Amino acid sequence: MRAATPGVSTVRSTTSSTVRCVVASRSNLWRGALLVGLIATVGCSHRHARPPVTSVEPRGSVHDYVATGQFAKARQVAFRNLDDARDSRNPSAIARAELDVGEVMMRLGEHETARRYLFAVDGRGSARERQTARAFLALSYHRAMEDALARTYFERLEPTLVSPRVWPEVERAFGSIAPRVVRADVQPRTAWGAAPFRATNADPMGPITRITVHHTAIAADTTSIADATSQMRSIQRTHFARGWAGIGYHYIIDSAGRIWEARPIAYQGAHAGNHELNRGNIGVSLMGDFEQHHVPKAQQDACAQLLLDLCSRHGVRPDEVKGHCDLKHTQCPGAHLARLLAELTPTRTAIAQAKRGHSVPIAASGGGVRHYHTVVRGDTLSRIARRYGVTLTALRRANPGTSDGLYPGNLIAVP
Ligand SMILES: [Zn+2]
Repeated sequence: MRAATPGVSTVRSTTSSTVRCVVASRSNLWRGALLVGLIATVGCSHRHARPPVTSVEPRGSVHDYVATGQFAKARQVAFRNLDDARDSRNPSAIARAELDVGEVMMRLGEHETARRYLFAVDGRGSARERQTARAFLALSYHRAMEDALARTYFERLEPTLVSPRVWPEVERAFGSIAPRVVRADVQPRTAWGAAPFRATNADPMGPITRITVHHTAIAADTTSIADATSQMRSIQRTHFARGWAGIGYHYIIDSAGRIWEARPIAYQGAHAGNHELNRGNIGVSLMGDFEQHHVPKAQQDACAQLLLDLCSRHGVRPDEVKGHCDLKHTQCPGAHLARLLAELTPTRTAIAQAKRGHSVPIAASGGGVRHYHTVVRGDTLSRIARRYGVTLTALRRANPGTSDGLYPGNLIAVP
């Protein structure tokens, strides 16, 4: 955050308007999810043939049948529960039942069906149900040998929110495909709906020699993708209003540790305070107010990973990684983050090692996937295909099982 003076009053006014904005977008999302849910309920009803009703209906719970490997019974109970939940029109009961159906179908190897139900949960369940649905999506892609997508879901999981019944299995499955040298996984500007960068209003970056770490000074939880992307757009509006070419920082890290590309690295930033300070200087900002709050662990890890990646990629020396307050008189990046910075900055040895393992390109997890699009309300597969200039067929092939419903926050692989 630019702070010509200590600038606390500016920060306060930004805070309240952003919080309002986040709250408003949340309630809209919820309404949207409800609407989509209703449509999906009507549209999907009985599309998947229920197994024939046997004379003796199984009476146990889905999870007990899963635990004992009785998948046919688990499937029968799961679909029966889903019908009951739909009759009750209770959205959380529907989400829970869909989660069970998704799990059972995943375990039966019917991945397209499984994903259809799991995507639906991802759009409307509680935080725990959404995370658990994503864990099952990760397992589903893993079992289908689609490791790039599997890893993308796995890396975005919050272990404490995934059902403890499921987490150990997920962790075991992904031990085998975790890459040895982890490159920072940067979400491209398209993933948060960036407006075109006003390049005529910016200087070229030139040789990169340093990195400055900031905080956004906005105390808001951006753990969900919807909140994080909404905040990216909000920061963009604020920085456009200052007459800048786009967001002043190059990268922004949200509360869950996702890294978002903010300003193309080809252009000099607007973050350190003046032209001289911005020259050859990459701006990295962490969402949050770390004068007030501690830095979440996931965000710390992502910051360390990004700094390592940037230092090795651009040849920046560790002593050129600084907090904003080291360059000028400001509270940025906040006392809590400033104290951590030495720990998050890579050592010379780590940089040398990362350079040798320089194989996985940034913002690409391989598997022919160029990037991931985060679904926003109103998206359709054909609209996404048009936006990225790919054919609908190619997009469908890269995302089996998503054709029946797109939910805000889903990740769509763009080939
Ligand atoms: Zn700053």
